[in-house]
Amino acid sequence: MKVIKKIKPIQEIADYCRRTGKTIGFVPTMGYLHEGHVALMLAAKDECDIVVTSIYVNPAQFGPDDDFDKYPRDFLKDYYVCKQCGVDYIFAPSTDEMYPKNYKTYISVNDLSDRLEGRHRPGHFTGVATIVLKLFNLVKPHRAYFGQKDAQQVVIIKKMLNDLNINVNLRICDTIREENGLAKSSRNSYLSDSQKTEAAVLYEALTEGKRIISEGDFKTAKEIINNLKSLIEAKSPDSSIQYIAVTDNTELKKIRNLKEYEGEVLLSLAVYFGKTRLIDNILFEKTSLVKG
Ligand code: AMP
Repeated sequence: MKVIKKIKPIQEIADYCRRTGKTIGFVPTMGYLHEGHVALMLAAKDECDIVVTSIYVNPAQFGPDDDFDKYPRDFLKDYYVCKQCGVDYIFAPSTDEMYPKNYKTYISVNDLSDRLEGRHRPGHFTGVATIVLKLFNLVKPHRAYFGQKDAQQVVIIKKMLNDLNINVNLRICDTIREENGLAKSSRNSYLSDSQKTEAAVLYEALTEGKRIISEGDFKTAKEIINNLKSLIEAKSPDSSIQYIAVTDNTELKKIRNLKEYEGEVLLSLAVYFGKTRLIDNILFEKTSLVKG
């Protein structure tokens, strides 16, 4: 496994792999790797000849009040995790390399970027889309691996690839969870043990929401959201809910008539435990509950 820090060599490696008929699988990450990232790297290893993992905490996707400075970093540990997964190249550029002085170009996927997470993190998805496109131009992957954990990111990257005619095959992997249901996240390292235990309520609420929606046990989406809010507040009095939303999975718009709706339902939420903001979601197919 090699660590590449500069743009030119990673492009040369990508070109060489492509010229020699190798398929490139790419896993973009911000490091502090956990089993969620491992699942992506193993999926890439399984399906591709060459696996490239990027480790880069992208300042462009952090707002002024976000945790860029204290975002956890441990390159040495990440190195060994990647090695164990059979990664061929780690791409770990510096910010000077990615956003040199006088950098000017940003990608925004309009509308979609303003919903859900984007409402609370203005500019976040512009940062995400920009870095993903830059990394795709460097690593030139045939397939790129993303986690369903960041549901809106998946929808936005899909849209960007489609709109800009970018020929990369997106592979989406299920969310990997702790035994108690808490979605694995680098940010879980901010949580105390008791917060980790309490935060299990998020997946419990999402699962309950899916059950209510699937069984038609409700009148309106608002009623479901209120139920889930009560469940989370009862089980974790110190948590603070930022949003819970029931949307479709392409436009990310609120589903108005949920009873009649047919298709993919994305139930997503963001909740603070102390100062730590956690996001999670559940995606499922719904059939109409209104008999014709
Ligand atoms: P990050 O390092 O948090 O930017 O995440 C890098 C990639 O790993 C993204 O595609 C995430 O969606 C994915 N990821 C993060 N957490 C999980 C998880 N618990 N299960 C599956 N994928 C994940």
